[in-house]
Amino acid sequence: MKHVVVVGGGFAGLNVVKELGNKRNVKVTLIDKNNFHLFQPLLYQVAMAALNAGEIAYPLRMMLARYRNVTVYKGVVERIDPDEKKVYTDFGSLDYDYLVLACGAKHHYFGHNGWEEHAPGLKTIAQASEIRRRVMDAYEKAERTQDSAEKRRMLTFVVVGGGPTGVELAGSIGEMSRYYLSKYYRNIDPKLTRIFIVHSAPRILQTFSPELSGRATRELEKLGVQVWTCSLVNGIDAYGVQVGNERIEAGTVLWAAGVKASRLPGGSVFETDSGGRVYVTDELSLPGYPDVFAGGDQACFSLEDGTSLPGIASVALQQGRAIGRNILLSAEGKERKAFRYKDKGQMATIGRKMAIAEKGNVKLYGLLAWIIWIGVHVYYLSGVRHRFFVLMQWAWSYFTFGHEARIVNKEWRFYSDLPERAEPAEPTVLHTHPGCSCVSG
Ligand SMILES: Cc1cc2nc3c(=O)[nH]c(=O)nc-3n(C[C@H](O)[C@H](O)[C@H](O)COP(=O)(O)OP(=O)(O)OC[C@H]3O[C@@H](n4cnc5c(N)ncnc54)[C@H](O)[C@@H]3O)c2cc1C
Repeated sequence: MKHVVVVGGGFAGLNVVKELGNKRNVKVTLIDKNNFHLFQPLLYQVAMAALNAGEIAYPLRMMLARYRNVTVYKGVVERIDPDEKKVYTDFGSLDYDYLVLACGAKHHYFGHNGWEEHAPGLKTIAQASEIRRRVMDAYEKAERTQDSAEKRRMLTFVVVGGGPTGVELAGSIGEMSRYYLSKYYRNIDPKLTRIFIVHSAPRILQTFSPELSGRATRELEKLGVQVWTCSLVNGIDAYGVQVGNERIEAGTVLWAAGVKASRLPGGSVFETDSGGRVYVTDELSLPGYPDVFAGGDQACFSLEDGTSLPGIASVALQQGRAIGRNILLSAEGKERKAFRYKDKGQMATIGRKMAIAEKGNVKLYGLLAWIIWIGVHVYYLSGVRHRFFVLMQWAWSYFTFGHEARIVNKEWRFYSDLPERAEPAEPTVLHTHPGCSCVSG
C-alpha cells in the first residue's frame, strides 16, 4: 500500500482524495486546517447576508465517509521535507510515498500588509462574517449619527479590485441598498449609498471580452456603483482610501485586488512564480520531485503561449482528478499522463437577473446567463441538503426582496493567514450537522 498525504481539502485536494477513494493499492491521509470544505465561489453571498456560512461549508469527514481508505485530520502542515519524504504538522510528522500540495491561495496586499485591518479580503468564513458585520454596522452607524458628513462616510463603500469577486461584492451592496434595506431605516435612505470599485487596469473583468466587461460596468452603474478604472490605491486607513490625489472618505473598504499562493510555513524548497505558486510539470508533479504533486491555486501550470492556468475552481477540480489518476498509475508502475485543461468558460454575476457568461465565441448576459450561473453553482455545491437550502434561500430572496441572514455577531477577533498575526484562541462553532460540527481553525 502506498501512503498518499494530501494537504488541503479545497477543490483540488478533495478531488485527489475522491479519485483515490476505495482504491486497493493506496491509503490516503487528508490534512486541512479546517474540518470542512468551503465552496468559495458563494462566499460573497455569506458576506452579503444572502446565505449562512453552514450552507456553503460541508464537513470533510461526512463528504469522505464512504471511502474506507481515507483518514481525515484537522491540522496545519507546517513544513515538508521532500528528501526525507516527511510532512511536519502541528500534531506530529507523517511519512509519505506521494504528497499532494493543494493549500490554495490567500490575499496579497502587495507589501502593504497593514491595509488588511482596514480592508479585509474574502477568502475564509471568518472574513466573510467580518465583512458582513462591517457592512451591516455601517448602516447602523449611519442611522444613529447626527453628523451628516459621518452619515455620508458610513454610506460610502469602496471595493478595491474589479475582478469577479469585486464585482459581485459591489453589485450585492448596490442591490441590497436599493432593494432590500430601504424599508428598515428611519433616519437614512439606503438608496443614497455610494459604492466605488477602484481598479488598476483599463477595464473591470479583464478576463472577459470588452463587450461583456462593458455590459457589466453599465449594469453596476444602474445599481449606483461608480467604476474607477486605471486607478491605483496608494493608501487605506480607518477613514477611507487614497486613490492618487483623490481621497474617498468611506466607512467600509473591501479588498478584492490580489491573491498569492498559500505559503507552507517554514519555507519551501520548491521553485515558485511571482505569485508564490509552485511550478509543476505537465503531469502535475514538481520538477525534480516526481513523488510530490501540486494542484489548484497553489500550482503554476505553464501553457505553450507563455501564460499559465488561472486560479479558478474548474482548474483546481480538474487538476485534482488528474493528480489522483497519475498517482494510481504510478502506484501500479504505469506511465503517468500529461494534464490537459478543458476550458469550461467563465461567469460572473452582477445582481438579480444579471450575470455574464463566456465560453469561446459564445457570450451571454442578462437573465439567461444568470439562470446558468445559478444552475452551475448549485450543481457544484456539495450535498443535496445544501443545494436544496441554497435554492430555497435564493427563491425566497427573489420573490420577497428580503435577505434573512442579516444577523451580525460582535466584532470578530480579526485574523488571517498572514504569519505575523495570531489565530483566535478559541475556535468558533459555525454550523452543526448531525454527529459532526464545523469549526473554523
Ligand atoms: C470569494 C471567492 C470567489 C470565487 N469565485 C469563483 C468563481 O465564481 N468561479 C471559479 O471558478 N472560481 C472562483 N474562485 C476561486 C476558487 O474558489 C479557487 O480557485 C479554488 O477554491 C482553488 O481550489 P484549491 O483547492 O486550490 O484551494 P482552496 O479551495 O482554497 O483550498 C485550500 C485548502 O487548503 C487548506 N490549507 C491551506 N493551508 C494549509 C496548511 N498549511 N495546512 C493544512 N491545510 C491548509 C485550506 O484550509 C483550504 O481548505 C473564488 C474564490 C474566492 C475566494
